[in-house]
Amino acid sequence: MKVKRRREEIKTSKNIFLSIILSLVFLISFLLFLFVPKIYLVGSSVVTVNINSKYEDMGIKTSFFNKEEEKKIKVISNVNTSKIGTYEVKYFYKNNLFTYKLKRTVIVKDMVAPAIILEGKEKEYYCPNGEYKELGFKAYDNVDNNITDKVKVKQEKDRIIYTVKDSSGNKSKVVRKIISKDVESPTITLNGDNNIFLGLNESYVEENITVNDNCDGDLTNEIKTINNIDNTKVGDYTVTYKVKDKSNNESLITRTVKVRENLKPNTIYLTFDDGPRDGTTDAILDILKEKGVKATFFVTTNGSDSLIERIVNEGHSIGIHTASHKYDIIYASVDNYFNDLELVRQRIYNLTGVETNLIRFPGGSSNTISKKYSEGIMSTLTREVINKGYQYYDWNLDSGDASFATNPHKLYNSVVNNLSHDKYNIILMHDTKTYTRDALSKIIDYCLSNGYSFDTLDMNKMPLRQKVNN
Ligand code: ZN
Repeated sequence: MKVKRRREEIKTSKNIFLSIILSLVFLISFLLFLFVPKIYLVGSSVVTVNINSKYEDMGIKTSFFNKEEEKKIKVISNVNTSKIGTYEVKYFYKNNLFTYKLKRTVIVKDMVAPAIILEGKEKEYYCPNGEYKELGFKAYDNVDNNITDKVKVKQEKDRIIYTVKDSSGNKSKVVRKIISKDVESPTITLNGDNNIFLGLNESYVEENITVNDNCDGDLTNEIKTINNIDNTKVGDYTVTYKVKDKSNNESLITRTVKVRENLKPNTIYLTFDDGPRDGTTDAILDILKEKGVKATFFVTTNGSDSLIERIVNEGHSIGIHTASHKYDIIYASVDNYFNDLELVRQRIYNLTGVETNLIRFPGGSSNTISKKYSEGIMSTLTREVINKGYQYYDWNLDSGDASFATNPHKLYNSVVNNLSHDKYNIILMHDTKTYTRDALSKIIDYCLSNGYSFDTLDMNKMPLRQKVNN
């Protein structure tokens, strides 16, 4: 009994001893856990980055007594992302007597493939009667720059394969599909204007047309011309040109032929610009009425509205000059010209209901002053006004009332001495001038007694167009 009890006592003290040891071990571990600083990398220990990209190191984390200690960290890095290579980032963490170290490897690599840029498209057609001609290509790399000379070109049936490899072994490939088929329509080139004026009863002579096709070459002889011109009737007619290439690609182009009455010889077309003006235009209208003569007025936005109404009501022809008559405005741009023109067109329409398409350019279509404000504008305007359905009239007899003929006597002489029985006479005058007003009666008397007739300009008549110089 005693022995048994003794044995139990020993066993109990052994257990107590073991517990103490275990507790100590636990305590020491715990103290170590508290006192030994902890250090570890954030992110991977080996990092790969692209050349020329921005490398941002993720750093390390340290703690001591569960407290972060960034101040005691020193980082040394030789990473250079602009150069291919292997670099190291070293981290030092000083804690009391000890320095703890960590490192990370950073690999800078070129991982970007070069770019191949094709001239032309990825799908190209070539003529069935010819062969595909390389349209060209370029190759650029982020590190090696222009590596066009390294491109390898290989043809496999209907595919051209372009491959290239940069100095780091990054590869690129581009494929171009080539198809033997003519998909382009022939090009028809019209010589002469899109709009042609033809005198009544005159025969239409086709101006040269040329046709060129990308595959079949000159196809001028293949052209089919369809026209509905009736040269016995004033009107606008269409000439259609059609051509097909050997692959059935068709092209079509049209030209407008405007059949107009020719201006008559031995006839005088009095034209008055720049008005109306109170005090002159009204007197001029009185004279014309008295003599039974009709004239053509190219008006502005000046003068009384009643004068515009009188011009129309008394059977004269009315056309548009301009609103401002300022060269630096109207000839500064095509838009300016048409905006200005519209103001006068509206004025005439609002007052009289007449929608006129007659025009006279300030300075005439041959003026060179417009060059000062816009090079080539007259070439554009003379084409554009006809495209928009207008007709412009210049003159073949300048009365001189805006230049040298500054009194009635001079003006009378300058007109009557230049009249012709053999041709038509479009006389440029200005109803804004007092001496024009004062000379008019005598001029008309001379014309009538010398066998001339008077007529007006209108849309049915052949325009008189001077040579464009700008
Ligand atoms: Zn004028």
